[in-house]
Amino acid sequence: MKTLKRTLKRRAERFVKDWALPRQLAGEDAGGKAARSTLSETLRPRLEEADTVGTSICPFCAVGCAQLVYAKNGRPIAIEGDPRSPINAGTLCPKGAGTLGMLLSPLRVNDVMYRAPHSDRWEKKPLAWAMDRIAERVMETRDQTFVEETADGEPVNHTLGIASIGGATLDNEENYLIKKLLGGGLGVVSIENQARI
Ligand code: SF4
Repeated sequence: MKTLKRTLKRRAERFVKDWALPRQLAGEDAGGKAARSTLSETLRPRLEEADTVGTSICPFCAVGCAQLVYAKNGRPIAIEGDPRSPINAGTLCPKGAGTLGMLLSPLRVNDVMYRAPHSDRWEKKPLAWAMDRIAERVMETRDQTFVEETADGEPVNHTLGIASIGGATLDNEENYLIKKLLGGGLGVVSIENQARI
């Protein structure tokens, strides 16, 4: 019985202490002290722990929303929309708002993974090895498939053996270089991208 009384007393005290209405009736300022509670006293600003903030662009789609990346000790702790951007004005869609999860996910693959022809397993490879391998395969394919002129003597200087598919995160400059390298340099005709504006 005593325990019940004590519990009820504690709850009543907490009710009077935490609920704004009785405190406002007792004269506390509705916008100040009376708005505080035991819980609100412990709340801290979400980004209080960040020691740096940098800018970035959402990696997901061609809209290219601007982001602010908050970090603590060199590790990102929060990502939100940059209010200075005329594109997204501080907002992010649910996908962009989940960028931090993608960035820190333990499932994220950060190494070059290679599966040899006919193999059933992936191997980790150094980036330099992959770059050399891609360059070798591109040149090999181009040499085998390059056509200087059509059967009736029309000059074409192209290859139909290589195609390029761009991604949403490629910007103007990157697409320009892809077009120069693959189109003008190697004679690739099939070049696609998802333009970012
Ligand atoms: S936040 Fe959404 S709309 Fe903006 S770039 Fe990212 S995925 Fe696209």
